[in-house]
Amino acid sequence: MILSLFSQINDMFTRAFWDDIVKNKDAQGFFDSYRMEFAPRRGIGFNQKDFALRNAAWAISDIISSRSEDAGNREGFQSHIKNDTPIAGDKVIIDDRDAESREIKKIAKMFGADLVGITEVDPRWHYSARVDTRDMSEAPIELPETITHVIVMAHAMDADLVDTYPSALAGASTGLEYSHEASIVIQLASYIRNLGYEAVASMNDTALVIPYAIKAGLGEYGRNQMVLTPEFGPRVRFSKIFTSLPLSAENPKPLGMTDYCKICTKCADACPPKALPFGEARAGGENVSTIRGVKKWSANCEKCFGYWAKLKTDCAICMRVCPFNHRGKWHERLWYKLATSRYRKLALWWDNRKGMPERLKPRDWWEAIVK
Ligand code: SF4
Ligand code: SF4
Repeated sequence: MILSLFSQINDMFTRAFWDDIVKNKDAQGFFDSYRMEFAPRRGIGFNQKDFALRNAAWAISDIISSRSEDAGNREGFQSHIKNDTPIAGDKVIIDDRDAESREIKKIAKMFGADLVGITEVDPRWHYSARVDTRDMSEAPIELPETITHVIVMAHAMDADLVDTYPSALAGASTGLEYSHEASIVIQLASYIRNLGYEAVASMNDTALVIPYAIKAGLGEYGRNQMVLTPEFGPRVRFSKIFTSLPLSAENPKPLGMTDYCKICTKCADACPPKALPFGEARAGGENVSTIRGVKKWSANCEKCFGYWAKLKTDCAICMRVCPFNHRGKWHERLWYKLATSRYRKLALWWDNRKGMPERLKPRDWWEAIVK
């Protein structure tokens, strides 16, 4: 039997509610700021309009995540999204798994996913326990035993908003995709259940989505702790569906992005609290929020979240500055080809010559939308 490696009770956002190392006034202020009466006013990028937009972007996700709070289930974050659609009594017969996989990818994209991959269930990446949010205690994860596959979806974040990180305005790019995710996973799970198969809609809950996204062939792991996708770099969020629908799994091929991260430290250089590692990937981390037994680059999540708590919004400077975060311009495509080839050092030289990308000023973002 393969054991899960991580309990969700130790993830940084959960620890902020029970662990005195993380639970403090700044952390409370961070969570409170998602209600306008507690949102601070700190000037450009952090004023009422910026927080208003960020908090509105989260609205759909918030409706879903709070609807089962009385039962201790924070849907999409600390428990899976509840099954709104009953499983149809008659099963659609599927005799070609490859064709069904192609079809389900098309349908996921029709609902709004930007990238879709399929992989087999791998219990190593499932939380050993979820969190009952009534008292922040560990609770069992219950997935149907018939589940065999995971459909992983990537949701691209708005490039212009991301360019304004760090700001409350930029946080709208995160909220927007959580809201999109919530609606897309509910719709896709509903479709699969209407076909007569199990489908459990999931966002950040139940299992670590990063290893699943990599296993499903959507990208490679980066020094900034994010999945780097060829299409959008790290500028994506991920959701997933656990299902018994007969599908075929992907066989990911090396993409060359992790190899580039071995010679680049741009994200670590740009991180204000110096939470990202400069050296080689290694197993373990600096505190209990790092999964054990997996060799990878790991942030010091306490430093990272401490910075978010002070800002009163999420930070993704390490996403913004990453050279894989691109918009598909010709020179960016050329750079990508170099960076993922044996000429990666030439790509590094080119990127170093460009220097750190400038932050888009929130004022310029607001002015641009009314031009
Ligand atoms: S900034 Fe450089 S090291 Fe960091 S994730 Fe991007 S490519 Fe990798
Ligand atoms: S999100 Fe911000 S604070 Fe956290 S690792 Fe990235 S740059 Fe550093």
